[in-house]
Order: sequence, then structure tokens, then C-alpha cells
Amino acid sequence: MRPEVLYQLFSPISKLTGIGPRLTALIEKLAGPNIIDLAWHLPSGLVTRQQVTTLTPELINQNIVVTLHVDQHLPSRNRRVPYRIQCHAGDSSLTLTFFNGRERYLRQQLPEGQERIISGKLEEYAGEYQITHPDHIATRETVETVPLFEPVYPLTAGLTNQTFIKTSRQFLPLLPDLPEWNDKSLMAREKWEGWKESLSRAHSPKSEEELERDTPARSRLAYDELLANQLALELVRRSMKRKPGRSLTETGEIREKVLASLPFKLTGAQNNALKEIREDMAGPHRMLRLLQGDVGSGKTVVALLAMVQAVEAGAQATIMAPTEILARQHFNAIEPLAAEAGMKCLLITGRLKGKKRTEILAELEEGTVDLVVGTHALFQEDVKFHDLGLAIIDEQHRFGVHQRLALSAKGRHGKGGVDVLVMTATPIPRTLALTAYGDMDVSIIAEKPPGRKPVDTRAIDLERLEAVAQGLGRKLAAGERVYWVCPLVEESQVLDVAAAEERFTYLQHLYGHQVGLIHGRLKPDEKDATMQRFMAGEINILVATTVIEVGVDVPEATVMIIEHAERFGLAQLHQLRGRVGRGGLEGTCLLLYAAPLSETQKARLGILRETEDGFRIAEEDLRLRGAGELLGTRQSGLPEFKLADLHAHSRLLIIARDDARLILEKDKALASERGSALKTLLYLFERDSAIRYLSG
Ligand code: ADP
Ligand code: MG
Repeated sequence: MRPEVLYQLFSPISKLTGIGPRLTALIEKLAGPNIIDLAWHLPSGLVTRQQVTTLTPELINQNIVVTLHVDQHLPSRNRRVPYRIQCHAGDSSLTLTFFNGRERYLRQQLPEGQERIISGKLEEYAGEYQITHPDHIATRETVETVPLFEPVYPLTAGLTNQTFIKTSRQFLPLLPDLPEWNDKSLMAREKWEGWKESLSRAHSPKSEEELERDTPARSRLAYDELLANQLALELVRRSMKRKPGRSLTETGEIREKVLASLPFKLTGAQNNALKEIREDMAGPHRMLRLLQGDVGSGKTVVALLAMVQAVEAGAQATIMAPTEILARQHFNAIEPLAAEAGMKCLLITGRLKGKKRTEILAELEEGTVDLVVGTHALFQEDVKFHDLGLAIIDEQHRFGVHQRLALSAKGRHGKGGVDVLVMTATPIPRTLALTAYGDMDVSIIAEKPPGRKPVDTRAIDLERLEAVAQGLGRKLAAGERVYWVCPLVEESQVLDVAAAEERFTYLQHLYGHQVGLIHGRLKPDEKDATMQRFMAGEINILVATTVIEVGVDVPEATVMIIEHAERFGLAQLHQLRGRVGRGGLEGTCLLLYAAPLSETQKARLGILRETEDGFRIAEEDLRLRGAGELLGTRQSGLPEFKLADLHAHSRLLIIARDDARLILEKDKALASERGSALKTLLYLFERDSAIRYLSG
């Protein structure tokens, strides 16, 4: 239950005064639904005003506050001519200018013959001083409403800074005094103030420097968020580790058979990762491990050998993929090797129905099946294992923490927890890995199998699209296959699809029946069918939106064309590029871009041409774009941060990680005074679902 001190902060913004439905909708879109979200929405700029009594040329283009005398209104009778009001301040005359000004309102605000205090940017127009649309108009009595320092907030269309401030700043007096959860010596070292003071300060900058990410106020707030994240992960980790695991010890018998039938030798990197996994599985604790490896690094066989160990120990193992097609692909790779080594392997997907399904589920429960490859369908309640020892989840970023836990709950009662191995094909920068998978141990396959030729990567102006399209004829004649990826149209799947359809029609016009189309609006069955035809070589050009991104393996595919490459994330481009050059043939990747590119866009495409090291690419992407956009994290279930910037605050993240471990080491139930303050912190950042993992 959320502590009472936080009730007000977690009430909806509509509770504030002076906010109607229209404004509520705008602010919700911008900052979030609750009052606390206004506190997290930090200013990005600052207006500094000078208080002046007379006007001088040096003040032009400056923001000023000045007391003036209103002389005469000059209403406009013509839409194109602004409404003007002549005034004077000391000896200088000054014109206030309003476009589309309403006379009644202006006469009421600025009555002739009276004194007003106004603020705005001083301009010069036709040799006269002028202020267009003053941002504050006050009288002597209300002069405090004209601030000399005014924060400027990130806004959304239809919302002005003034309106936003008037509503949003109401959160400031609502901030409760919360007990301090941070370590005193850390605070002293970092020169941090309390939570409430830091927030107030971050919202009231008095200089440009105070807008930087590394001010004490902003660092503290970022740290709070990172600490909440790390504490939550550490709680999950401890709870998983606390449950007894089981020792899955190998005999080596089946492994030798599988190794013997592989057409290659494992790389050193594969062996290293496998060694870590094997030792972890053999140990008495539960395994909770992330296996990171770039596209094509050979994770599948490592997964298979881990499953073999479970089977040798007398248990069952399963691997779950995010889509039907990937599950099928794994099945096709694994089943023959399994069969040869004497293991029974089955496939369970949403398509499995009726009598066949009943039979398979029965076999699974009896334990005559050793390995199961599947999709989400594995979560269904009637899927029961005889004795599940190891669960592998492939392409993790499509699944969340809860699904990890749900699958591992399929273990046999009284047998100890299921070992969990999560595999991701998207290299993740260390900082992001810490925040998303901080609850797991990590193994990395850092090297690819030998003999891979680098993919020839080129950036090409979109204007040359027709020449590119015509050039494909040669590749097709040589029996090679082509992916053609169409741009992501922001916030509109309909437009995405339209763009892909248009390209499909154009290419069909050139290459007839050899062209296929696949996009997010097709039904899973339709997507699969087209994909199968591409795999089988019935079609040789596959026009697609990014649905092909993850994991699909077509060795004959050699060309990857990406339209509007500048709109994609680097990690995503790298993933796409990893789809080609997987067979023996050399791959080509053409990044079609719309000129002119910004400096950042140039730098990003440059990195891609320079390296195929997915980890380096991911780090650069994080640096250039920030975590929110990386990997399309918005849809990926990776954590999002409101205050912390994983690149700028990486030092703080490491401190937070160590801090979280230490805290729970000393006070595993968060029962101390600081512990209870830390619980409030978890609620504050809505990580409270972790609280149920507190050991009692
Ligand atoms: P990913 O890590 O992207 O899932 P895969 O497991 O699909 O990679 O492996 C990519 C390709 O490399 C597969 O065709 C696989 O058979 C092959 N492969 C895996 N390990 C090796 C190795 N040690 N030597 C040569 N080829 C390998
Ligand atoms: Mg794979």
C-alpha cells in the first residue's frame, strides 16, 4: 500500500485549480496523469529578466521588466495590422504590439492613463522601442507575479510556457517532507540537499548552469530514480536466489554426441559462455543469467548445449521465442541434432490445436519429451512439464520481467527453482544492461564464428533509389535474395503500410512475382506464409516494415536495403544488417538516406559503416540518442527513466548498484529507519511491485 504522505502527489492533475479538460489532456500528454509527474518534468531553459527604469539601445533583444504609463490604444481595423498601444517609461516611448488582439480584453488589462508593470523582450521597430505580446502584465499590487527568473519547460503544441507554469507549479507547495533515504556521507560528498529542496531548486534555476544534468540538485534526483531501479532489481534477484535451486549436473554423454554431429567447432567465446552457464546450472542456486551475443554470434547452439545438460541431469528443458516463425526456426535447427543424440524434441505454438495438442501435452507431462521449443503458448495453464529444469527465453527485449518469472514457475513442486537463461541478440550498453537486467548474471559471446565476411555497408542518397532498384536484377540472377525495408512513419502504422505497399508495387512492376510484402497489419499467419515463401526461394525480394528485425535466418539473403535509414535507431539498423551475409556469400547493406543529413545523423550512419561490433554501436547510439529511443525501448518493456540519463549519469548508476546491494545485505527486509525511507522511495518511483519480494 502506498504510504499516505504520497497520496496527494499521486492524485490526478485534474485536482489542481484552474485546469479544465482541454488543459488536462495537454498536460497529461506532456508530463503524465498525476501531480507527481509535474515534479518530474524539469525545465530545459531559462528566461532571465532585467528590471529597468529607462530604455536604452543596449537592452534591445533582452528580456526586461519595466514600469510604464499607458498613453493610447490604437486598435487595428485590418487583420494584417497589429493592435498597438502607445506607452512611455521614463523619457522613452514604447509601443506594445498585439497580433489578433481583442480590444475589450486589452483595454481592461492596460487601461489608458494608468501605470502597469510588464515584461517581455525589447525590440526595435521602425526606429522605436517595441514589445510584442508582453509575457506578464501586472499592477503594483501584483508585481510579484512577474519573476526575474522564469524556467522554460519542454512543451507540447497548444500549450504555452505561461499556462503550463501557472498550473504545474501548484505541485511545489504540495511536496511532502519525506524521510531521507540516501546515505549521509554520499550526500556530503556529492553536495546534495534533501529531496524536496533538490526538486524545488531544479524547478527554479537562476542561471543556465543550473539546467545542466550534473548540478547537485539534478544529480540527486537522478540518483534517487536509479537507486529505486537498482533496489527493485536487487530485490527480485535476491528473491530468486533465495529459493532453493537444484544442481543440474551433466554426464557428458549426450553432449559428446551433439558436439560430434555439429558441422563446426565451438568458438572460444561460445565455450567461455557455455562454461559459465554449465557451472551455474551445476551449482546449488538458481541460475538467472543473461546471455548476450551479437547477431550471428551463435547463441542457438550454446542454448542447445545448456538444454542438454538439463536432460543429462534427468530434467526437461524449454526454449521460448517471441514469434511463431522464430520458434519454428529454432525447432528446425535443434530437432535434428536432438534426435541424433537420442532426445525427443517437440514444438508448441498457438497453432497447435485439438487432438494433436492433447497428445503432446500428455507426453510433456509424462516426461517422455526432453526438449520443448515454443512461443507464448507455453504460458498456457494446461502446459505442464513433468520436470522442467531449465527455461531459456530468446530475444528477451520482447518479453518482460514478469514473463521470466511466469515461465520459471513451471517447475516441479518440491524440486527447487527452474534455472533461467535469457538470450538477447541486441547488444546492450553496460549501463542499460544494468538497469534492465541488473537482477541477472551476464555471459557474453564477444566474438563471431570465423570466416564471416564483413557486410559491405554504404550510405546512398535516396534520390538514387531507382538505380538501386534496377541494380538488383544482377543479384537475383545469381540466385541471391533481397530484403527491402521501408521507413518507419512516426506514430502511424497506416502510413508505414502505405509506404511499404507503394514500394512493393514499384518493385513488382520491375520484378513481377519475385516480390513479396510483409508488414505489421498482416495476420500472423499471413506474415508467416510470406516469410516461408521467402525462405523457400519462391519470392526473392521481401519488402517489409521492421517486422523482420528479429532473428530470422535466410542464408541466401545477401542484400539489405533500408529506406530512410536516418530514421532508424543504430541498434535497429545493426540488427537489420545482421540479417544478410549469414551464408557463405558476401552481404551488402545499402542505407538510403534523405539528404541533407544533420551532423548527428551523419555521425550515426558513419559509425555503422565503420564497425560491425554491436556493443560499440549500442554505446554510440546511447550517447547520441539517449536510452529512450534506443532499441525502440518505448515498446520494448525496457525501463524508462524520467530524471536519469543513462549516458550522463552512468557514474551514479554504478554507485546506486553498489548501494542497493549493500543496503539489502545489511537490512534485507528494509526494516530499519533508512529501510522504511527506502520503501517510500520505491513507491515514489512506482517500483513498488518489487516490495512483495522483500524477505520477511
Ligand atoms: P545468433 O546468435 O544470431 O542466434 P545463430 O545461433 O543463429 O546466431 O548462429 C548463426 C549461424 O552461425 C548459424 O548458421 C550457426 O549454425 C552458425 N554457427 C554457430 N556457431 C558456429 C561456429 N562455432 N562455427 C561456425 N558456425 C557457427
Ligand atoms: Mg538467434
